[in-house]
Order: sequence, then structure tokens, then C-alpha cells
Amino acid sequence: MLRSLLLYLAQAAWAQKIVSNWRVTKRVVRRFVAGETLQEAVEVVRQLNAKGLTATLDVLGESIDEPGKARAMKDAYIELLEAIDANDLDAWVSLKLTALGLDVDEALCRDNLRQILACARDLDRDIRITIDMEDHTYTDRTLDMFRALRAEDGFDNVRTVIQAYLYRSDDDIARLVEECAGIRLCKGAYKEPPSVAYPNKRDVDQAYIRNMEVLLKAASNGCGYPGIATHDERIINQAKGFAAAFGIPRSRFEFQMLYGVRSALQEELAAQDYRVRVYVPYGTEWYPYFMRRLAERPANVWFFVSNFFRR
Ligand SMILES: Cc1cc2nc3c(=O)[nH]c(=O)nc-3n(C[C@H](O)[C@H](O)[C@H](O)COP(=O)(O)OP(=O)(O)OC[C@H]3O[C@@H](n4cnc5c(N)ncnc54)[C@H](O)[C@@H]3O)c2cc1C
Repeated sequence: MLRSLLLYLAQAAWAQKIVSNWRVTKRVVRRFVAGETLQEAVEVVRQLNAKGLTATLDVLGESIDEPGKARAMKDAYIELLEAIDANDLDAWVSLKLTALGLDVDEALCRDNLRQILACARDLDRDIRITIDMEDHTYTDRTLDMFRALRAEDGFDNVRTVIQAYLYRSDDDIARLVEECAGIRLCKGAYKEPPSVAYPNKRDVDQAYIRNMEVLLKAASNGCGYPGIATHDERIINQAKGFAAAFGIPRSRFEFQMLYGVRSALQEELAAQDYRVRVYVPYGTEWYPYFMRRLAERPANVWFFVSNFFRR
């Protein structure tokens, strides 16, 4: 119930106004968000790189409803790519289609994305762009856009995300593996109805493991480079065991985790020579992202509430 309430609040404009204005919120937000500026994010990634961790940077913002704002978001991503290059960071980039104008005009969104992908490709370094997955009403459009960018526009530096909680994901994974797509696998962070997603955590975890094994097997045959995006230590151990049993080299996949979540585990895996990528969000539009992080773990809510009262 708490998770549902927080996910509802994540989309409620009235709640955003109230929660964002509490001074204590900003302090707690800093646990999950690198800062409000690009410079702060660059500094965070520099520190992660120094610890042997790589990153994927995300300019916070979603559900944009004006063409001008979508173009400004594209410009922010171009500035980010230039900063990755100028600061010699080991980092990729993540973005959301609704931040680039998907709800306004699909053609505008695709054009924005093309410019970002072309900029990343033209820089002389490996920067891949991952299209995050939003709620299930966007799944088809996201996968269609991802495929069009690869097949029609010829970009091979684009990746996307599959959410294990959706019933459809077994089929999506099977098809994406045939296409040798670069996939991040996560459990899924949105409020979804039981008609489209497993309501029980145990089913989600089982689906995650099923999909992960398909992705890892394909990677061992040279197809794709999966990002195993989870903080679930049981699943991480399962991935390690599966890779060892099938002789899948550590260079053929990576673990991914969120900034501010299980940081010790991130460093532990890196010390064991696994590749670990940390998702580093930054910007002023942190509210929905922050609320989804609270929804993922009740302890985060108590952390927030206790800070509120201490203050
Ligand atoms: C790199 C990355 C990218 C992602 N991209 C997307 C995306 O594009 N679309 C999407 O829908 N979702 C995305 N997610 C979120 C994901 O779907 C889950 O909501 C989130 O990762 C929590 O699930 P879990 O796999 O960690 O497992 P859980 O079973 O939720 O958590 C396992 C353990 O991890 C720890 N943990 C998990 N979350 C938190 C938290 N917020 N704070 C503190 N501890 C926590 C706890 O110890 C918990 O017991 C992404 C996650 C990662 C790591």
C-alpha cells in the first residue's frame, strides 16, 4: 500500500509542490541525486571512476509537454556528452523518451534522439545511449523507436531497457536477443495494474532470473552486452554463478546499480573484477525519480521522515 501511495504521489503535481518545498527534502534527495548541476554530476562520476566504477548519467526530467522544453532537454544532453568528453569520464548516458518530447510529437522526439546519438557517435570514445523504460503505456513506442533508430537510422550506440515485472517481457527478450540488442534488465519501478505486470515480488524475481539467463547466454555467444540492473544480492549471486557455470567472461556483461543504493556492494563487485555501472541522475527535476526511490524501500521513507522530525 505504501509503495502504491508513493508511486501515486510521484505523479501528483499537488504533492510535488508540497514535498519539493520542504527544506529537508533536498537534503535527503542528495542521497540519490548527484546534484542540480552538470558540474556536480561530473564531480560525482570522477569520484566513481577513481573507485573503479563506471557510470551512466541521466538528466532528470520526464513527461515534458512543450516542444521548446524537449529541445532544451536535447541541448542539455549534448552539453552532457561534451562534458563527458572534455573531462575524460568513463560514462555512458541514459534518457527518457518523454523527456525528449514523445508525448508532444513522436517525430520531434526521434529527431532529438538522432542528434544526441550522432553527437555521441562522433566523439572518439565509447559512449552508449540507453533509452530508459517508462510505464507500460510507453513500452511499444519505446521499443519501436529503439528499433527504428538501429535499423532505419543506422545507430549501433543505442540500448534500451526491459522490465521483468511485465508479463510481455519474456517475449520481448526473446525477440531482442535475436536482434542482438544491448539491453539493461531491471525489475520495473512504476505502478502497474495486475493485467500487465506480476503483482507479487516472488514472480517478478523469478521472471528477472529467467530473462537474465537468456540475456547472459546470448552474450556468451557474442550477442548483446547485458546490464544486470539490480541491488538484489541473491540475484547478483545467481548471475555470478550462472556466468561461471557457462564460462561467460566478466567482460561480456555488467552489473548496474543506482547512485546512493548499496554503494559498498558496488565497490565490492568492482574489486572482484566485475564491471559495475552506477546510474547517476542530476538536475532540478528530481521529484518523480526521488519518489520512485522512496517507493522501492520502506526504510527510505523512515529515513526521510526521521530527517524531517530531527530538523
Ligand atoms: C541502473 C538501473 C537502471 C534502472 N532503470 C530503470 C528503468 O529504465 N525503468 C524502470 O522501470 N526501472 C528502472 N530501474 C529501477 C528498477 O526497476 C527497480 O525499481 C529498482 O532497481 C529496485 O529493484 P531491485 O532490482 O534493486 O530489487 P528489490 O527487490 O526492489 O531490492 C533488492 C534490495 O536492494 C536494495 N534497494 C533496492 N532499491 C533501493 C532503494 N531505492 N533504496 C535503498 N535500497 C534499495 C534493498 O536492500 C533491497 O532489499 C533501474 C534500476 C537500476 C539499478
